[in-house]
Amino acid sequence: MLVAHRIRLDPNNVQATYLTRAAGTARFAYNWALSEWQKQYEACKADPTQTRPSEAALRRQLNSIKRERFPWMLEVTKSAPQMAIMQLGRAFENFFTGRARYPRFRRKGQDDRFTLTNDLFRTEGRHIRIPKLGWIRMREALRFAGKVVSASVSRFAGHWYASITVNTSDSPVPSADNQGAVGVDLGITALATLSTGETFRGPKALRGLLVRLRRQSRALSRKVKGSRNRTRAKLKLAKLHERIANIRRDSLHQLSTSITRRFHTIGIEDLNVKGMLSNRHLARAIANMGFYELRRQIEYKVAWRGGHVALADRWYPSSKLCSGCGHRLDTLGLDVRRWTCPGCGVSNDRDVNAAINLRNMAVSSTVPACGGEGTGPARERRAKPAPAKQESNGKVNCG
Ligand SMILES: [Zn+2]
Repeated sequence: MLVAHRIRLDPNNVQATYLTRAAGTARFAYNWALSEWQKQYEACKADPTQTRPSEAALRRQLNSIKRERFPWMLEVTKSAPQMAIMQLGRAFENFFTGRARYPRFRRKGQDDRFTLTNDLFRTEGRHIRIPKLGWIRMREALRFAGKVVSASVSRFAGHWYASITVNTSDSPVPSADNQGAVGVDLGITALATLSTGETFRGPKALRGLLVRLRRQSRALSRKVKGSRNRTRAKLKLAKLHERIANIRRDSLHQLSTSITRRFHTIGIEDLNVKGMLSNRHLARAIANMGFYELRRQIEYKVAWRGGHVALADRWYPSSKLCSGCGHRLDTLGLDVRRWTCPGCGVSNDRDVNAAINLRNMAVSSTVPACGGEGTGPARERRAKPAPAKQESNGKVNCG
């Protein structure tokens, strides 16, 4: 199974210059190959005897001319241009199969990255060795054991990161405690509410930073375009964005690890995030909470532990259904936190009730469609016997 660990790098000035140059070389090679591809494709259309462009042929072509035409390419690892062209090949493949748009040219400042194949780098503790450069310090050691596949080095908001992909021989984490099923309601007021009644709030630090974010964005808009002050304010803002993203990612990882460690079957909403984002009031809150990211994390972590995620489809009325008697409300305002069921008279907490509905949905979704003999009521069914409880040391944080 492939897992990736993204680690911040601490390059010195000389090393940072090299990384910038390697990323520039990768970008140049990518753009060179893209324009060659277009040229060769046009030539091929005009004259069908010409060969169609391919990433392998373009890599050979670049190799044969780079010594003479682009000698500066030799100053950085050969992996930078080579892998970039391979990535272009994959981009075209995705385009041809309808998974992605036509490849676009990479831009400086936005696509500052290059990839190393596993034979060209190695890690040792908190260091990574990059060809023609040497050892760079990392903020933490690689967390996964197994065969290292590749490393992608990229710049984000002025900081360098290495995302190292590892092929772990087996599941890197112990399987779930198997406390059965849980429903997770992703919310606005709380990050998530579980059907057990627990709520997870977003980290406090985030709220303060969001206030600062608003202030700095306003300050930036007042700065004169093209001025040095504006550039400085822009970088400051980008760094703050990055800090917020890191805190958010961390808290989402803690939450998704906690949920997948404890429960085997997880019911969650298949949120139509795009549709919800068009509602401007909800938009910021939802974007801040990272619904989509949390769902992604829960899905892959539950797969590691051999569990099961059930998605409620977007029309499932998890909030409007009474989890006690099944009565369904016609409408429920977004600001209503608690409501009394006209069917059974029970007072429902909006989020807990929704989470319980999601749990029930998840439990019933694990029943085989044909209904095998002696399956009994849906909630009795378990996918696997409960494994012995194991304490995992440390949280899993990757991606
Ligand atoms: Zn009811």
